Amino acid sequence: MSNVTLLQPGTKPAAPKTKRGTYFVQTWGCQMNEEDSEQMALYLQELGLKPAADWREAQVVLLNTCSVRRKPEDKAFSLLGELNIIKANRPEVVIGVAGCMAQLRAKEIRQKNPLVDFVVGTAQVSEIPGLVEEALQGKRFQTRLDLPERKGVIVTQIPQRNLERTGKIKAFVPIQYGCDKFCTFCIVPTTRGRERSRPTEHIVAEVRRLAELGTKEVTLLGQTVNSYGKNLAEGRVPFSQLLQLLAGIPGIERIRYTSPYPRDFRTDLIEVIRDVPQVMEHCHMPLQGGNDDLLKRMKRLYTVESFAAIVAELREKMPDVGLTTDIIVGFPGETEEEFEGTLACMERFQFDGAYMFRYSPRPGTPAAEMEQVPTQVGKDRLNKLIAFQQQITLNKNADCVGKTYEVLVEGPSPKNPKLLHGYSRCFRKIHFPGDLEKFRGEIIPITTTEAHLWGLSGKIA
Ligand code: SF4
Repeated sequence: MSNVTLLQPGTKPAAPKTKRGTYFVQTWGCQMNEEDSEQMALYLQELGLKPAADWREAQVVLLNTCSVRRKPEDKAFSLLGELNIIKANRPEVVIGVAGCMAQLRAKEIRQKNPLVDFVVGTAQVSEIPGLVEEALQGKRFQTRLDLPERKGVIVTQIPQRNLERTGKIKAFVPIQYGCDKFCTFCIVPTTRGRERSRPTEHIVAEVRRLAELGTKEVTLLGQTVNSYGKNLAEGRVPFSQLLQLLAGIPGIERIRYTSPYPRDFRTDLIEVIRDVPQVMEHCHMPLQGGNDDLLKRMKRLYTVESFAAIVAELREKMPDVGLTTDIIVGFPGETEEEFEGTLACMERFQFDGAYMFRYSPRPGTPAAEMEQVPTQVGKDRLNKLIAFQQQITLNKNADCVGKTYEVLVEGPSPKNPKLLHGYSRCFRKIHFPGDLEKFRGEIIPITTTEAHLWGLSGKIA
């Protein structure tokens, strides 16, 4: 018997009888949130709402929040304060709060912002259209926060209409929800629940549909994406096997994934990345800290040397693999020696890029109760680390000048609309002159001519 319980999406609201206004979805946080926001926008369009250029003008404003650090939470509360003022003058405005902060701090959101119409948790995205419809009709103060805690329970069967993302060259595809790792600094297992893998056939069906609609690159999303497949009704499907299944779908030319967990990064996966042409040679593998005691306090289930062994195997089997990482500095109790260990790892592993953050205590996590590093010490270490890594990134980009890369052309460069932009297989951002109409969505060879901190300039080879 299946151990996967399918929670059906919310009831589809009746088609709107009157002309509708506009919506705005403000997103903070990770790609999972970006993907959820995309779903929210599609639901709102189904209700007859049109996108607004500015949240100040929208009739429906959704805040898709993040709790991983304090800063995005502060920003969400600040925006909510402004929205409450707007709503006091324009009561027809609908305010909804979703995402991790909504899951965690619903009561506080309500208390501080009495004009909020509804708060939904991370597993209730599909209930948003019904809640918006009811709010438009004047029903307020609703919350939906049930988190599927049992393993194998998953919100799935995304309505077919929400796959109609015609014209999108790249798409995110969630394959796993929640996390079982419980790193001591992280609130995700609380906000998103225990790890649940999406049934393989649902993922394959979604990617097949995306390919039919013109998508060429999919990025598979999961908190520890490479531990995909546990607890599936059909039996364990290793992540490496899922990649091979998706690579066989006609039209899918590139597959990426984020973020893998180092302990679960094994040889079978490395060989699939090397051998399956659709799987890109890029790996964003969070190291978080460069000292074993530090990693232990973080409850990361690997050591510096076991991480080093994965890096060595990746580079031995794919010398041009792109490697990026996440690092936290100023974690509770971090000594100068431990921080030096992190710098030494950056030197040793020569990452192509890194997301670097100062530790931010998350109430309810074990690390928040540990002895904290003084704020200024954390800030100074972060500045030092960023400067150190930037030099490495610049050097690594400089080493790429003169080489030719396959680039999937995504569209005009955000930095200079006269140029096109795209990414190499190893995830280097490349800008170059070219004809948008002719090349958008194509994979073309680009020879790089100049290195920058953000990536490379080049020309069509
Ligand atoms: S692996 Fe650790 S950091 Fe990543 S989501 Fe899970 S608990 Fe959080």
